[in-house]
Amino acid sequence: MSVLTFKQGIHPEYHKELTREKPLKKAGRPEEVVIPLQQHIGAPLDPLVQKGDHVKQGQKIGDTDSFVAAPVHASVSGTVKGIQKMLTPSGQKTESIIIEADDEDEIDDSLKPDKDIDKLTSKEIIDTVREAGIVGLGGAMFPTHVKLSVPEDKDVEYFVLNGIECEPFLNVDNRMMIERPSDIISGMKLMMKAADVKKGVIGIENNKPKAISKMKQAVEKEENIEIKVFETKYPQGGEKMLIKALLDREVPEGGLPLDVGVIVNNITTAVAVFEAITEGKPLIERTITITGEGISEPTNLYYRIGTKVKNLINDAGGFKGTPGKIVLGGPMTGAAQHSTEVTTVKGTSGIIVLHKESVKKFDPKPCIRCARCVDSCPMYLLPLKLSDLSQYERYDELDNYNVQSCIECGSCSYICPADRPLLDYIRIGKMEDMKLKKSSQ
Ligand code: SF4
Ligand code: SF4
Repeated sequence: MSVLTFKQGIHPEYHKELTREKPLKKAGRPEEVVIPLQQHIGAPLDPLVQKGDHVKQGQKIGDTDSFVAAPVHASVSGTVKGIQKMLTPSGQKTESIIIEADDEDEIDDSLKPDKDIDKLTSKEIIDTVREAGIVGLGGAMFPTHVKLSVPEDKDVEYFVLNGIECEPFLNVDNRMMIERPSDIISGMKLMMKAADVKKGVIGIENNKPKAISKMKQAVEKEENIEIKVFETKYPQGGEKMLIKALLDREVPEGGLPLDVGVIVNNITTAVAVFEAITEGKPLIERTITITGEGISEPTNLYYRIGTKVKNLINDAGGFKGTPGKIVLGGPMTGAAQHSTEVTTVKGTSGIIVLHKESVKKFDPKPCIRCARCVDSCPMYLLPLKLSDLSQYERYDELDNYNVQSCIECGSCSYICPADRPLLDYIRIGKMEDMKLKKSSQ
């Protein structure tokens, strides 16, 4: 079988075997959920409820008039305990609605479709996706209705469903493809209809043979959707790498896949669209892999968005040994947490717990000019140069080295034998470069 790939990249240890064969199960109902009013790229939301209100599961509780935004919904039925700033996985405190759950699971079914789904127009699909609060569930949290609203001057040739899941440890897309292939295809077809795209491709890495087999069966009768297999390499799942490997097209700097005739969406997002359109279910639940040597029973779960990390760790049997590091998301792009009281958001796809003994002490040494960071960078940047310029606050020179093209994949930091925190400095550099650009406008 021929496999596609991009140039450069790295081969980290994957550790997927911990949960690869674990079927998705339902997490327990938490006693309380915390729903941040900003868990998408775009404008923050206004609360639609107040302290003391009773809410149903699925009820919309936050929204805005802005187009680039996604409303939020109650993931439990219960009582609004308060609206206040709460800790989120980004490390920031964000205005959030706290709901104390009751045991009724009373459901708000106002999104339920009253029409045969085959008769839905493109606009009706996009409107429902927006009302359901669906965002990209691969981690980017970009509102899906915005992606599907193709400007009139753009011509989209391919709809690509991203089943790569190249982050080590995670298995949520893999399990979805094994367990719900036909729901994925239905969701994908709805999105293709909404965006008026005729050709569909599903990309899967070759370390997921069961998923490849299930998805191939699911598209047997589909004339315009095909499965493409990719080499297992990080960051193969990045939109730019995926498009380059698949179509040999390069997304321009600062541009979007749309600029090269492509829309990319994630496997789990397709299931969310399917559930919204067919059942009227808003995005109140998603999947997560809870894993690592510091977890008693590594597992894959459906959980209610807004559940605290401590509840989900308990659902996975609790800690094994003394935890040294807790990361939300994948180990390459996720964020380390200092508290298990932090809430989950729509983009939270993983909890990884490492033992205290295995957590590497941060001990950067001088650069030995080995160029491994350069050879690994999928964007053909000079990570050591970008990092140095940022470390020595020579921010005005960063633009000459295309700092904004960095996709923050972390490959350079991972591969560096001198343990230099390249990405940490590059992130600071990106922010400072943006500030300089804004101040000169
Ligand atoms: S410079 Fe950016 S894009 Fe290149 S390897 Fe480092 S984190 Fe990835
Ligand atoms: S990988 Fe590390 S040591 Fe090698 S050139 Fe890059 S920064 Fe220097």
